[in-house]
Amino acid sequence: MYCVKCGVELADTENKCPLCGTVVYHPDIHREPAKPNYPNYVKESPNMRPQGILFILTVLASIPIAVTLFCDLYYGNGLTWAGYPIGGIILFYTMLVLPQWFYRPNPVIFCPITFSVLGAYLLYIDYATNGAWFLTFAFPILIYVAVCVCTVITLLRYTRGGRLYIAGASFIAVGMLCVLIEFFMNMTFFEKPLFDFFWSIIPLMSCFICGMMLIVIAIAKPLRESLKKRFFV
Ligand SMILES: [Zn+2]
Repeated sequence: MYCVKCGVELADTENKCPLCGTVVYHPDIHREPAKPNYPNYVKESPNMRPQGILFILTVLASIPIAVTLFCDLYYGNGLTWAGYPIGGIILFYTMLVLPQWFYRPNPVIFCPITFSVLGAYLLYIDYATNGAWFLTFAFPILIYVAVCVCTVITLLRYTRGGRLYIAGASFIAVGMLCVLIEFFMNMTFFEKPLFDFFWSIIPLMSCFICGMMLIVIAIAKPLRESLKKRFFV
């Protein structure tokens, strides 16, 4: 059996052409209604939450923390280097394991938590190394990235349409991030005027052009339709 419109070969169970969507009708062929390939109920798995694995991961994370803490306190003079590995382990634990303890973890809640832990870790490194770069470099950049990422995650979770607008705005936000990084680097590390931008203009311009293109595609419906047809998206 072939589609009357586009000529693609069709299975006997097909009600609609999968390529062009034309309804299939042939009066000579009697067809049983097709059976769906999947059951129309979801079998609840008894152990949806892998508590045991999470418990093991928690123990695995605590062992190196305890060992490094012990080694540093016992062989060194107080807490010297143990803070770095321990902070890293806590950061990874917060990012990967902690949300899994909850039933259907909400990224809108765990994203700010992860950024807070990352901020605390960077603050510790800055303090421990006498870096003096946290307040004028890491902190403002981190706040900017955290606000952008949390906004995008919230929008993706709670709004239905507008994906192209979000993607376009994200591109522009990444371009702005480069400019901010150079600005705060000028402020913190170099004896340069604050607005003396050198490299960040290039990523800003390219990200801005990509972002604006996406936004224009989002606004112009006919353009979007023709692109959809051309690239089958
Ligand atoms: Zn067809």
